[in-house]
Amino acid sequence: YAVADWYDAEALLTIEERQVLARLREFLDREAGPLLADFWERGEFPEQLAQPLIGLNLMEPFEAPARGIYQGFRIFELARTDASLATWYTAQAGLFRTAIRVGASPEQQREWMPKVIDFSLKGVFSLTEPESGSDIAGGLATTAHRRSDGSWVLNGAKRWIGGAATADVLAVFARDVADGQVKAFLVDRKSDGVTLDKIHGKTSLRMMQNAHITLDGVRVPEAMRLHHVNSFRDVAAMLRAMRSDVAWIAAGIQAGAFEAALRYITERTQFGRPLGSFQLVQEKLARMLGNVTASLSLVVRLTEQQAKGIYRDQDSALAKMQTSLFMRDTVALAREVVGGNGITLASDVARFHADAEAVYSYEGTHDINALIIGRALTGESAFTR
Ligand code: FAD
Repeated sequence: YAVADWYDAEALLTIEERQVLARLREFLDREAGPLLADFWERGEFPEQLAQPLIGLNLMEPFEAPARGIYQGFRIFELARTDASLATWYTAQAGLFRTAIRVGASPEQQREWMPKVIDFSLKGVFSLTEPESGSDIAGGLATTAHRRSDGSWVLNGAKRWIGGAATADVLAVFARDVADGQVKAFLVDRKSDGVTLDKIHGKTSLRMMQNAHITLDGVRVPEAMRLHHVNSFRDVAAMLRAMRSDVAWIAAGIQAGAFEAALRYITERTQFGRPLGSFQLVQEKLARMLGNVTASLSLVVRLTEQQAKGIYRDQDSALAKMQTSLFMRDTVALAREVVGGNGITLASDVARFHADAEAVYSYEGTHDINALIIGRALTGESAFTR
């Protein structure tokens, strides 16, 4: 493991934090590793891992949250094993928890947060729509209509929502028809008018289940509205805080792919020599290690800044953009040095190679993150003409 963490960033953790991480790593190697290829091929999530993972106390109490670096390494460790496992975790610990942390009133937080943390209230973040991905701020078309009794009626559709089929509630973002502002609601997944359709045929992140959601006259009580979400600015604050999680995932995927490639090239021989003895293979290993090390350095520094309360859009956008670029390069190099076996699930690199594509696009594509940085550098927004 230390090979992928070349500059020993883990040394920034306490002994106790490292011990817990080691237990997580050991569980993932022993219990998750043998299941991954099969479940990936079948396009199913290994549900039997969910409860044992939750039992490893993956989230700290709201009043005493984990240090950012420790939380980052937890995500890194999951992604180093599998991108879907990391995404399953960040759907609850990142997306949904952030929706409650930023969007709920103090009273709502007191009620929901303990259940979010012990996973007894499982939720998903339902923002993207069939017709609006990158331009969701302007294009969000799901409507919320307030009735005379104070309750709300939602109509519209959501796309790509990760983990929706097994969630208790869907955090749905909708536009209030009265004031045109975006509001957020916790919708019981089993409510009348909610239809979930699994998105089939994915070639990336196949284990993670993504849903197309239709909302047809769905009634939601006012008590289930997130009282501190009053415009898209509040949603943007959530996105800004969560994007660093994806950068940690992009770093972890690279570590997993690099280590799998390293194992392979020491075992396989050609021309009577191990693959790892060839100069061209060594050059690719060095590039992969450079990418992983640069990615870890980026996310560690970003997380340190966030711990100080520095949460600028362009900072998390830069980390997500750059680690994703490194990730695409690293997984392609890993797949390359494994040769033909690099496109079969028998080698872990094939799974990392395929899964990297979803991570490259979700929570802000390369282009959108680049434009966020460009706007900060020039003062000019280039999103629209
Ligand atoms: P589009 O917005 O249609 O973009 C298509 C292409 O055009 C991209 O390359 C984009 O960069 C480019 N483009 C768009 N606008 C511009 C511009 N102004 N300038 C230059 N280029 C531009 N969403 C949720 O709400 N919750 C989830 O849980 C969730 N999970 C996801 C899981 C997976 C596996 C995937 C693939 C997506 C998930 N998403 C989720 C949605 C994800 O956030 C969107 O896919 C992403 O925001 C991009 O939107 P889009 O796919 O509609 O692409």
